[in-house]
Amino acid sequence: MMNIDKTLSKGAFDFIDDAKIQSLIDNTVEDAGKVREILAKSLEKKPLSVEETAALLAVKSPDLLEEIYDTARKLKNDVYGNRIVLFAPLYVGNYCINNCKYCGFRNSLHTAVRHTLSDEELKNEVLALENEGHKRLILVYGEAPQYSPEFIAHTVRLTYQTKIGNGEIRRVNINAAPQSVDGFRIIKEAGIGTYQIFQETYNKQAYRWYHPENTMKGDFMWRLDGMDRAFEGGCDDLGIGALFGLYDWRFEVLGLVTHALHLQDKFGVGPHTISFPRIKPAHGLDLDLKYQTTDEQFKQLVAVLRLAVPYTGLIMTARESAEIRDQVIDFGVSQIDAGTRLEIGSYQTKRTGEQQLNREQFKIGDPRELGEVMEWLMNKDYIPSFCTSCYRLGRTGEHFMEYAIPGFIHNFCTPNALLTLSEYLEDYAPESTKAAGYALIDRELAKVADEAKAKLIRERLAKIKSGVRDLYF
Ligand code: SAM
Ligand code: SF4
Repeated sequence: MMNIDKTLSKGAFDFIDDAKIQSLIDNTVEDAGKVREILAKSLEKKPLSVEETAALLAVKSPDLLEEIYDTARKLKNDVYGNRIVLFAPLYVGNYCINNCKYCGFRNSLHTAVRHTLSDEELKNEVLALENEGHKRLILVYGEAPQYSPEFIAHTVRLTYQTKIGNGEIRRVNINAAPQSVDGFRIIKEAGIGTYQIFQETYNKQAYRWYHPENTMKGDFMWRLDGMDRAFEGGCDDLGIGALFGLYDWRFEVLGLVTHALHLQDKFGVGPHTISFPRIKPAHGLDLDLKYQTTDEQFKQLVAVLRLAVPYTGLIMTARESAEIRDQVIDFGVSQIDAGTRLEIGSYQTKRTGEQQLNREQFKIGDPRELGEVMEWLMNKDYIPSFCTSCYRLGRTGEHFMEYAIPGFIHNFCTPNALLTLSEYLEDYAPESTKAAGYALIDRELAKVADEAKAKLIRERLAKIKSGVRDLYF
């Protein structure tokens, strides 16, 4: 075990009532009238209660499910706009003291190849990502004494300092172990965006089975309270998640909604993002996953989350195949990773072909390069966005409820998506993508009803074409 201060947040308590969640799953039956009332409520962007969410999860009839999907699509179209934020994960180190049974980095797996990027290697990874056009990264770490808050903060600073030509990283998010309040503060001071911690499973019995008790991660409460301590340490931009496949998918959705409501109640700010990774094959993984989430369940859970937490971004990772991403993105996903490589140091070597699973955490489902993902999105009339403006203008936490502010999407998100897309087209895109990208920009500009706003956007686009960078609203 690591020797860190394990004081919980003020007023910490276990807000996950397993029996209540289980009873909602067992006793909620499909009720079309009630479901339609709930759908009407979510179209007004009202957060759903855990009970209402359970009612949507209980739906099995294909027709009623279609109504859920249609409402999620409609909510997305009417309210969230059509921009998709792009990022890349960057694994900094895979040493780990834990023994999570589903993970290719677990401590007892002696055949896993372990490495921590040196400063030089980290810089080279960042340069390689910048040369592809990335502006937003999430740095990922195993849990080990060497990945201290000071080390994590150092790697964040180094990432921001590393620039080439017009390439720079403007937002660094973190996926790492839960810290003490002081630990979170040290990391926050390096200028991070979102701090992500996935609870993995909200069911305590399953949690105990997957995370052996004598490990750091074996302490359910230390992890559950992680986001609360992060908030106390100054991080008001938080990402929660569950690893689907460890327990009943409905339990995890209700756990996530309970967690979101808890943060909203306690701090007045819900989570900035929710992630819903599904467990993937990994090195040394031989589990009988009786709860593996099917594609149909996955679609339903994404649509239901969209409806339940109207102010929260949804992240769908490259664990999912291109086909599934294509089907599910319309339900209101707001962020995806692209050009994803998990092997430590593999962006600079441009390694292609089969993944070497003894060097990586799990098998990804969508290995497409950033450019291919951009083209796919634009063909679907989505605006790929590298926007980082809210975080840089201090629009975070309680000041940042982007979806809650009328007109926010039209005034900020869409214009900023167009500006960052134009930067990408100028600096990194092949000619064919450039043509398709500017055609999309023209179509989007034609939709801007406010002529003064359209003029402002056009002026900034012209500046970008003449070489100015990093313009935002
Ligand atoms: N070590 C830190 C921790 O556990 O919080 C950082 C996170 S880990 C590198 C990132 C996430 O990957 C985990 O939280 C887990 O949800 C997910 N993960 C682990 N094994 C996986 C697998 N086999 N398939 C898909 N996702 C997996
Ligand atoms: Fe370590 Fe995280 Fe993998 Fe668990 S999920 S073994 S903590 S890297």
